[in-house]
Amino acid sequence: MQASFKTTCCYCGVGCGVVVQQDRQGRLQVSGDKDHPVNRGMLCSKGMNLHYTVMDTSDRLLYPEMRYNRQLPRQRVSWEQALERTAAVFRTIIAQHGPDAVAFYASGQCLTEEYYVINKLVKGFIGTNNIDTNSRLCMSSAVAAYKMALGEDSVPICYDDIEQADCIFVAGANPAWCHPILWRRVEAAKAANPDMKIIVSDPRSTQTCAIADIHLQLNPGTDIVLHHAIGCWLIGHGHTDHDFIQQHTEGFDAYRETVMQRSLAEAAAICGIPETAIRETAACIARANGFISMWTMGLNQSAVGVRKNLSLINLHLITGHIGKPGSGPFSLTGQPNAMGGREVGGLANLLPAHRVLNNPQHRAEVQAFWGGGAIAEKPGLTATDMFTALEDGRLKAIWIIGSNPLVSLPDVRRAEAALQKAKFVVVQEISNKPETLRYADVVLPAAAWAEKEGTMTNAERRISYLHQITTPPGQALPDAEIICRFAQKMGYHGFDYTSPAGIYEEHVRLTAGTRIDISGLDYETLRAKRSVQWPYAGTKAGNGTPRLFTDHRFYTPTEKAIIHSFEDGNSSAPVCPELPLILTTGRIRDQWHTMTKTGKVGKLKQHIAAAFLEIHPADAAERNIAQDDIVEVRNAQGTVRVKAQLSSRIKKGVVFLPMHWGKILHSDLNRANNLTHNRVDPVSGQPDLKFAAVQVQRYEKP
Ligand code: SF4
Repeated sequence: MQASFKTTCCYCGVGCGVVVQQDRQGRLQVSGDKDHPVNRGMLCSKGMNLHYTVMDTSDRLLYPEMRYNRQLPRQRVSWEQALERTAAVFRTIIAQHGPDAVAFYASGQCLTEEYYVINKLVKGFIGTNNIDTNSRLCMSSAVAAYKMALGEDSVPICYDDIEQADCIFVAGANPAWCHPILWRRVEAAKAANPDMKIIVSDPRSTQTCAIADIHLQLNPGTDIVLHHAIGCWLIGHGHTDHDFIQQHTEGFDAYRETVMQRSLAEAAAICGIPETAIRETAACIARANGFISMWTMGLNQSAVGVRKNLSLINLHLITGHIGKPGSGPFSLTGQPNAMGGREVGGLANLLPAHRVLNNPQHRAEVQAFWGGGAIAEKPGLTATDMFTALEDGRLKAIWIIGSNPLVSLPDVRRAEAALQKAKFVVVQEISNKPETLRYADVVLPAAAWAEKEGTMTNAERRISYLHQITTPPGQALPDAEIICRFAQKMGYHGFDYTSPAGIYEEHVRLTAGTRIDISGLDYETLRAKRSVQWPYAGTKAGNGTPRLFTDHRFYTPTEKAIIHSFEDGNSSAPVCPELPLILTTGRIRDQWHTMTKTGKVGKLKQHIAAAFLEIHPADAAERNIAQDDIVEVRNAQGTVRVKAQLSSRIKKGVVFLPMHWGKILHSDLNRANNLTHNRVDPVSGQPDLKFAAVQVQRYEKP
C-alpha cells in the first residue's frame, strides 16, 4: 500500500509541484506533478533526486548539543536544557548591551510560517530589527528597485506570460541551469513561435545562450551602459510608448537626457560588444508585441545592483511593456521562498505584508497586532553588516538558521574570523556538515523538507502548500516550533500556536487590506487549489492574480511608475596591473547553494564533481596554463586553488568560479568566496559577488 502526497520542490524559486509516493517501508519516490501549473509534470535533476536527501539521514543532526567552553566538544542535551540556556544567555546579553547586541540570520529556504515567527520574535518582542537572511545575497536589489520604480516590491508578471511574449531578454542569468523547468517553457515557447527572439546578456556563453538569437557578451559591470544604450536607440528611433509615458510614468525627460548623452558606439566600446548587437537588440524590443526581461544575480549581486535593475525596468516603462499579457520585468528568485520571506517582512528593513519600518503607522499597526513592545524604527543589520558587527564587537550573539554563511558570504575568511569573536553562536540546522557548527555554542537540530508542513511562494507570487510526509529523525523539530519554544522560554506571549496552520492564519490576517492581501486563503483552500497567486482576496473563485498593474495604476503615491535616471558607472573595485582579471561566481546545473543537500546525492556529482576555474584560452596561454592544470587564484581577500578549465565561452579578461564548494578535508581552497569582497550596493546592501579583481597563475607544488 502506498501513500501519495502532493508538495512543492524546496530548491529554486521556480516552485515546481512534486508528487511523493511513500511505500510501506517508508521509502520515498518523487515525480513531477502533472497537474501543477508551474511544471506540468517536469522536474529538473535536483528535483528528481529530492527523496534521496530525505531518506539519507547519515549526515543529519539528531539531538540538541551545547557546550560552555569552545575548547571542549559539545555534549548532547535535552531541548529543555538547550533552550533554557539559550534564553538565559540572550536575556543576559540584552540586559547588558541592549537588544541590538543580538541578531538572527535566517534563510530563503525557510517556510513562510517559519519566517513569520522569527520576524515576530525579533522585531515584535526582542525589540531589534537584526533579522536578515541569505536572501539579502540573492534578490534584495530587485526588491529595492521594484519599490523605487513601481511603488512596492511586486513582481508584475507570471509564467503564463512566457508563451505570450515574442521577445525575452535574459540579463545576468543562466536559467537553463539555475531555473531549468522555467527555461524548458521558454524553449518550448520559442519552438512553437520561431519569430520569438531570445537575447542573453552575460560575460559567459552559458547553456542559456544555446537558443539565443543574440548573445551580448558584455564586460562585467557594464549592464547599465547597455540598458541605457538600448533606451537611447528606442527613443532616437521613435519606439517609445508616448501615451503610456505621459499617462502612467514620471521622470522620462530626465531619463531621455541621461541616456542620449552617450553614443551607441561609445556604449558598445565600454560594454565590449558590437554596436550592431545593441541596435539589433533594441530593434527586437521595438518590434515586440510582448517583451519580458528576466534577470537574477548578474544584476542583483552588484555594487550598483539596484541601478542595474532600474535601468532594465526603465526599458519596460518607456515602451509600455508592463501590465499586459506577455510583457513585464521579471526578477527570478534564486531561493524557493525568498518571496515568502519578503511577504512576512523577513529582512532587516521590512515589516509584514510589505509594510516598512520607516512608516510610523505601519510600525503601530504591526505592534498592535502582535501585542509586543514598540518596534524600532532603525533598520537592523543586513547579512554582511552582521558579520562586521561581530568583528567590531557591537554584536555579541548570532543565531544562524538554515544557512551556511561560511561558504556563501563574501570575503568569507573575514566572516569566519568574525564568527570566532562572537560571544554566543546558535546554529539551527538539518546537517552536520556546515562550517558554522565549528563555532556553535548551541546546536539545534531542525526538520527538513517533507518532515514539516507549511507554505512557500515562488517567483511568480504563487503560494504553494508543502505536506509533512515523514517524521524528522532523532529529536529534530520544525524550525517554527523551535523558535516558538524559545520565545516562550523568553517569557513572550503569542507563540503558543498548536500547528503551522495557526501561524499561517495569523500571517494571512496581517495581509488584510494590503496589496498582497490573501484574506481567506487557509490551508484547506490551498490544498484544494494546489497553489494561488497573491493578491487573492476578492478573487476566491479563481487562483488569485496572475498579473499586476493591468490598469496601469502603480503603487506610488501618484499611481505613476517612476523612470529613474542615474549615471551608468560601476563602483566595483577595478582591475589593476597586479589583479588584471575579473572574477565572477555562480552556480552549476546539479548543485544547490552550499551542497548541504545536493552534495549527498552521488548522481548529482556526475555532471561536475569538483570546483574549477573557467578561463579564456588566451588568458591561460599568457600564464602558461593548460587544461586541468592546478591554478592559484588570489587577491587581497584570499586564495583559491582548483583545476583550470579552458573555455572560449568566457570573455577574455574574465574568470569564473562556482560558488558551491566549502571546506573539504580542512582545506578551504575550493571556496570561491575566499576572493570576493565586502562591497555592497548602497541602497539594497546586496554584496558585489559578481566582480572581484584577481590574478591567476599556474600552481607549482613547493
Ligand atoms: Fe526544483 Fe527548481 Fe528544479 Fe523545479 S526547476 S524541480 S523548483 S530545482
